[in-house]
Amino acid sequence: MTIFEKSKAGRIAYRLPENDIPTRELDLPTHLVRKLPPELPELYEVDVVRHYTWLARRNYAVDVGIYPLGSCTMKYNPKVNEKVARLPGFTMVHPYQPEETLRGAFEVMYELKKLLCEITGMDDMTLQPAAGAHGELTGMLIVRAYFEDVGDTRRKVVIVPDSAHGTNPASAAMVGFDVIELKSKEGLVDVEELKKHLNEEVAAVMLTNPNTLGLFEKDILEIERITHECGALLYYDGANLNAILGRVRPGDMGFDVVHLNLHKTFSTPHGMGGPGSGPVGVKAHLAKYLPYPVIERQGEDFVLKRPEKSVGRVRSFFGNFPVLVKAYAYILTMGKDGLKSVGDMAVLNANYLKKKISKFLPVPYDGFCMHEFVASAEKVYKETGVKAFDLAKRLLDYGVHPPTMYFPLIVSEALMIEPTETESKETLDRYAEILETVVREAYENPELVKKAPHTTPVRRVDDVTASKKPVFRWRRGT
Ligand SMILES: *Cc1c(COP(=O)(O)O)cnc(C)c1O
Repeated sequence: MTIFEKSKAGRIAYRLPENDIPTRELDLPTHLVRKLPPELPELYEVDVVRHYTWLARRNYAVDVGIYPLGSCTMKYNPKVNEKVARLPGFTMVHPYQPEETLRGAFEVMYELKKLLCEITGMDDMTLQPAAGAHGELTGMLIVRAYFEDVGDTRRKVVIVPDSAHGTNPASAAMVGFDVIELKSKEGLVDVEELKKHLNEEVAAVMLTNPNTLGLFEKDILEIERITHECGALLYYDGANLNAILGRVRPGDMGFDVVHLNLHKTFSTPHGMGGPGSGPVGVKAHLAKYLPYPVIERQGEDFVLKRPEKSVGRVRSFFGNFPVLVKAYAYILTMGKDGLKSVGDMAVLNANYLKKKISKFLPVPYDGFCMHEFVASAEKVYKETGVKAFDLAKRLLDYGVHPPTMYFPLIVSEALMIEPTETESKETLDRYAEILETVVREAYENPELVKKAPHTTPVRRVDDVTASKKPVFRWRRGT
């Protein structure tokens, strides 16, 4: 039931003191004046509290349990960083304040940029983009600006491996590049295949390393050498930096442009569309194309600059500032050793869980994985008719969140699992146990699994209609 349906005319939750400020009629144009009062719900305070508490309890969240959604890094975010971002000094600043009164905010952004440059091995960075895909778009604009600037107008192609996140080819195409999909070999970039495609028309190779199968591109230095030899740039999708944090840096692997997802790796919870932050780092030779404004230190002060050949503004003001504050607080509280242990534990947890799960769900690209791995329910499907989708739905009945399904596309009946570093061994054991139970049920009682979930507030949703004809508004009488 919506809060509107619970409304009863005349009920109030609190009383305001009598208004002792003189009011006057405003002379507004009549077509702007509403004819009816707004239909706001009328409830007692206790009913408002119960309504929202009831909704929150129907929800699943990282703060409720494990959320091993591969490629999404749904990890626990320390509450102290939320606290820091809520300090009035951060929440009460306004982007239209005079610049000289924004020094503290500028300092946080400048210091964060410096730290992220150090973490990624890049020379400069913009904090503006509001999401990972937005960072990719910005990065691709920088790639295009670079080749236009050096007068190399033949370079119209971006090469993307078939294991890439779907946003990669989409971002390259949005900037006007032709996308070539690179077939992978044993889950990795096939260097011989890449060589065939590298020529004077290639602007960039876009890679995720580790890739979406959770595998580290072992030939990365060779890939770097041949890409640069052909005159193209190397783009790094760093959305899932968890895997290598404190161990390897994209800059040292030879990448020219990198985007990060602060809302995956750096302590902002995400999902449902934001707020996010996708900073883009570049090597020195690309710094002059960064979006403006960039924040520079000038003696004791901080100034906003427009890089010489900037691609322009990609977002209003300075990006999602509270997300930046959380990332800054996270990096400072973790410290160098702490960040290193994030990478170590993310990889250890993934390998531990992979070992357990591969006993009953094969992992096609097996071997040492990084922060995630992809299991396949193909065998279960062939033998029982139960799909990866059904297994995922059945997990809901056991009160845990399913893995990512049907991605990457190169694994059939894919279940992509990313436990993250913040889960304990007991939680991982329990997850493996539940998944094993569900697979056993597929053999013993396939109908039970195919009709799952049985215990959730909503059973199987029509996700196609939900995405094609979304209903975001409740209207009286519907
Ligand atoms: C999440 C993700 C993205 C996109 O990030 P958004 O913030 O959702 O736009 C891009 N690449 C990879 C590998 C990702 O995991």
